[in-house]
Amino acid sequence: MILGGGKVVAADSAVLDPGWVEVRDGRIASTGAGRAPQPVDVDLRNRWLVPGFVDMHVHGGGGAAFQDGAGERVRRAAEFHRSHGTTTLVAGLVTAPLRVMERKVAELAESVQDGLIAGVHLEGPFLAAAHCGAHPPSLLRAPAAADLRRLLDAGAGAVRMVTLAPELPGGLDAVRQVVDSGATAAIGHTDADYELTRAAVGAGVTVATHLWNGMRPQHHRRPGPVPALLEAAGVTIELVVDGLHLHPAIAYAAARAAGPGRTALVTDAIAAAGLGDGTYPLGEATVRVRGGEARLAEGDSLAGSTLTLDRALRNAVAIGIPFLDALAAITSVPARAVGLGGEAGSLAPGRPADLVVLTDDLVVDAVFARGNPVINHTEER
Ligand SMILES: [Zn+2]
Repeated sequence: MILGGGKVVAADSAVLDPGWVEVRDGRIASTGAGRAPQPVDVDLRNRWLVPGFVDMHVHGGGGAAFQDGAGERVRRAAEFHRSHGTTTLVAGLVTAPLRVMERKVAELAESVQDGLIAGVHLEGPFLAAAHCGAHPPSLLRAPAAADLRRLLDAGAGAVRMVTLAPELPGGLDAVRQVVDSGATAAIGHTDADYELTRAAVGAGVTVATHLWNGMRPQHHRRPGPVPALLEAAGVTIELVVDGLHLHPAIAYAAARAAGPGRTALVTDAIAAAGLGDGTYPLGEATVRVRGGEARLAEGDSLAGSTLTLDRALRNAVAIGIPFLDALAAITSVPARAVGLGGEAGSLAPGRPADLVVLTDDLVVDAVFARGNPVINHTEER
């Protein structure tokens, strides 16, 4: 299959205009600028061809939550996001009793084996009660090495990221333990101050979980975690750009401060994404969605989002983030942050043919997962 005749965003954000991509056996066989070497199967005129999106922080969508277990529910959530261009996602589990989380990690590990999801993100239970967001405070705990070990072992390599509050007793050791296991250590839902955050980065933290949300706010004499994370060259900054989690000015300033190679747009989407207003479960909690805004039924905290990455891309461009930077923030940057840089997030020969066709106004027109069409409106027009 050859896709050509439009703008192609190739490796390292190089724009081939026009360009083409050849797909063979589900992989990208070759790419090039100019006219395609053979007649094209998918005409990209007035279209962009970009890598499939990578969501490193997502809890569900289309009415299904990763928390709800393996198999069909996972497939439903993954397929919902795939129809919005996300071909690689790391399934997020929120805080639950330890043995429940252990079981869910093991179940999701099977979905990783099946190729439905690319890994598991543990968001909890090692979080700060002071910034718990939608996580039930009674189930939060300090990261005892043995407990963390149980969760990591349950995944047998499937756990790709752990968000934790490093100021908890044993927190810095836990960061090292996560990194030693081969997963990404993320700081989030934390009451850490500036100094402790720097220590956590020194211990191995490389991701800031939804910056600003679920952490001590910035103050001119008590800077807190935000400046420490923005200034740390090795830290990827997650931003939820849904117009609700962050004021557009703050989202823009954070993306500018971190720079394009370090900004990752995430959805933090819950099962309600793609559904209308209503009441939905999120782990042990109940969430009320009104006008797309998800809040805890009790306590009013924001509880994830109903965002999809295609909308995050359009939102980011609308607040002034350049298109190619915003695109990197939903493709190559998150892929690298969770150790998937060799497989996802870039249109390079040899990679799986996870492709998205966008219209000029950045609406998803077609999605190919491993070369297979998920949706394809391009042909119809
Ligand atoms: Zn989350």
